[in-house]
Amino acid sequence: MAAPEGSAARRSPRAREGPQNCSVPDCSAEAVRSLALAEAKKAFSSLPDAERRAHLCREHYRAWKKATKKDRDLKRLGW
Ligand SMILES: [Zn+2]
Repeated sequence: MAAPEGSAARRSPRAREGPQNCSVPDCSAEAVRSLALAEAKKAFSSLPDAERRAHLCREHYRAWKKATKKDRDLKRLGW
């Protein structure tokens, strides 16, 4: 059975994503986490509104966790 090459090559564009860079201005580290933009803005108000999600590198993710700690203590999910 000969499947047409053209359709086989056409994969879902969302199947794989390359590494994202941190969304924080002036930071070009590779992002390890993505959060809803509104959540990220609680810690980094200077984030651009271009996307609905913000991508954070390890350092900024840690900073974000610290900045939103009070918030998170309310709903102790304990992960
Ligand atoms: Zn960063």
